[in-house]
Amino acid sequence: MSEHQTVRVDLDDGIVVLTIDNPPVNTITAALREGLSAALDRLATLSGVRAVLLRCEGSTFCSGADIGEFSGPPKEAEYRALFARIETLKVPVVAAMHGTVLGGGLELALACHYRVAVPGTRLGLPEVTLGIIPGAGGTQRMPRLIGVEKTLDLIINAKPVDATEAHQLGFLDEVIEGDLKTGALAYARRLLAAGAAPRPTAARSVDPATATDAAIERLTALARKLYPNRQAALTAILAVRASARLPFDQGLLYENELVNQAKDTIESRALVHVFFAERAARRIAGLPAGEGRPVRSGGIIGAGTMGGGIAMCFANAGLPVTVIDSTQDALDRGLGVIEKNYASMVKRGRLTAGEQAKRMALIRGSLDYADLAAADVIIEAVYENMDLKKAIFAKLDKVAKPGALLASNTSTLDVAEIARATTRPADVVGLHFFSPANVMPLLEVIRTDASGPAAIRTAMDLTKPLRKTPVLARVCYGFVGNRMMEGYAREAEFMVLEGATPKQVDDALERFGMAMGILAVFDMAGVDVGVNVHKANAQHYPPDPKYYQAEIALVEAGRLGQKNGKGYYRYEKGDRARLEDPEAIAILKARAQQLKMPTHAHTEQEILDRCLFPLLNEGFRILEEGVVQRASDIDVVWTSGYGFPRYRGGPMFYAESIGLKTLLDGMLRFRAQFGPMHWEPAQLLVELVRKGSSLSEWEKTKGATP
Ligand code: NAD
Repeated sequence: MSEHQTVRVDLDDGIVVLTIDNPPVNTITAALREGLSAALDRLATLSGVRAVLLRCEGSTFCSGADIGEFSGPPKEAEYRALFARIETLKVPVVAAMHGTVLGGGLELALACHYRVAVPGTRLGLPEVTLGIIPGAGGTQRMPRLIGVEKTLDLIINAKPVDATEAHQLGFLDEVIEGDLKTGALAYARRLLAAGAAPRPTAARSVDPATATDAAIERLTALARKLYPNRQAALTAILAVRASARLPFDQGLLYENELVNQAKDTIESRALVHVFFAERAARRIAGLPAGEGRPVRSGGIIGAGTMGGGIAMCFANAGLPVTVIDSTQDALDRGLGVIEKNYASMVKRGRLTAGEQAKRMALIRGSLDYADLAAADVIIEAVYENMDLKKAIFAKLDKVAKPGALLASNTSTLDVAEIARATTRPADVVGLHFFSPANVMPLLEVIRTDASGPAAIRTAMDLTKPLRKTPVLARVCYGFVGNRMMEGYAREAEFMVLEGATPKQVDDALERFGMAMGILAVFDMAGVDVGVNVHKANAQHYPPDPKYYQAEIALVEAGRLGQKNGKGYYRYEKGDRARLEDPEAIAILKARAQQLKMPTHAHTEQEILDRCLFPLLNEGFRILEEGVVQRASDIDVVWTSGYGFPRYRGGPMFYAESIGLKTLLDGMLRFRAQFGPMHWEPAQLLVELVRKGSSLSEWEKTKGATP
């Protein structure tokens, strides 16, 4: 019976303890709701019940609703009925919480009469991060406990608060030190001794003074600022405000209506899509069964920008790591940068001094490759040079222990060729970190045709302790992210030659929702870095004399980006604010004249279409070539590594949301205008449009890409 599986009912001297046990995180699944319902049936048959304690087994109280149900038939009515049964019990009901209590988990607790939690418990209503609003009574019950304004601050900021803050806010009655169950039972007995009655949240009224016009105005501004182009936070304001106006039951129905509208938005479907896409990306299709190898220590070659950041990832995970460089100077510099990074985290209160010392102690510098003999994984991050990398891998082949994972952080070189410099290409993969490596979540895991299953698994497993979001891809120039960025950036550069200003291009991209306009990104990374990559890899690009001429013109004029205060923009010393610079615009104009490029006025729509269509189109090529396992992997790359707005679901989700035909028509229109060199639509795109089909259809018929 399900009640035995998910909810246990025990009687402890007049107090019924309902223990939820739905591993791993007590998600409120259909089975759990059934279990709770059965437990309440059982409760009704017991006599002598004076109070009820609701608690959870495992690492956390109910962590939230089952996100997998969002796309199915609405479940709000079921939640409403279940929570009402709890709330209308005739004895005091106490929720005893620990762990991470979010969304539906917290709403369950709000339907109880009293709430206690251990220190460190994190409680929140983060629904807007999934494009919805609390839909199991949260928008109506929470304001009855803490008022409209504080409820909305909680919902809109979408950050959990800890037990102490929850107590101060007023929706947690007591912080329990020591063992939760013992403390909560003692709390319940104290309630009984004091003659406490049931205290249904629904029966309380909302203090109208907490919903002033000024407060609503501030919250609306906050919602617009935190969530541009998005609706959910504004919808939450409607719902919570209504709690001050409507009787509870009507408020719940209004919430129900709003949450179902929210679930139907592209914003919500996109955010839920990305949530599941990140999980799916960890699954490896078609690999023979087997285990990854345990990783207890690491080695890194190159103590530069990337090597240092990767070393920090290991130390942050508690894994000892040896960093090798070719000279003591370079090594000292690299370790110094790491030390400085940690020190700045301590200064900002992100890390304790003790933790800094512990992490630094895990990082050992060396000039001797022999010190890598014990490492379970070795990641190379030296200059981008094939001969150098091959020489290093040949050396690693001699010192690394059998079964060690050998990885290159190369961005542009052929990992298969690097692997062939060893006698063990089955153990070689690419691990493409993004800069700063200790901060950016994305990790492209690159397998060659020779990479063995154990190496692939080890690499994918390693992303867990390193706290990275992995996407598995096959070798191709630029892998997934940079390959798709090529056309996107190309068009941005063309447009500033055609007379659009850098600000105009970047503003359009940022208004669309990109974390940063691409030209500002180039200024940040160094305009010369892009020039060098394009020069070193000229064979990979179409023979277009206009290609990347904007960046070349700027670099030739000594404009390297933020590092020397001028690039596409200019910068005041010590300030990253980008200022429009007529000098840059004049340089671009002169280059365009040399190239005889006609100018025209660019609408915002043209800027977006020209940048985004090539990006999306390349995604289709990547899919038809089988570079990634699934379309959603591409969405993960772009949302976790390239600042593509999650609320648009990533490029492939976005392509489907605008319609594949719109994309194809756009490609054809630009092909007619600019010629076929850059505007040939991907075969897969053409085919899907011709059949009136979709990517998900295609994936179903194609099956998993092994
Ligand atoms: P970097 O110049 O900052 O660091 C390279 C380091 O390698 C230097 O400390 C250098 O002394 C060391 N080195 C050179 N030859 C060596 C040798 N023979 N033995 C040991 N150490 C040696 O470079 P980076 O930006 O960290 O890039 C490293 C790699 O990561 C490159 O392959 C690059 O393409 C890739 N990558 C860079 C970025 C980025 O944004 N910087 C992002 C992803 C990948």
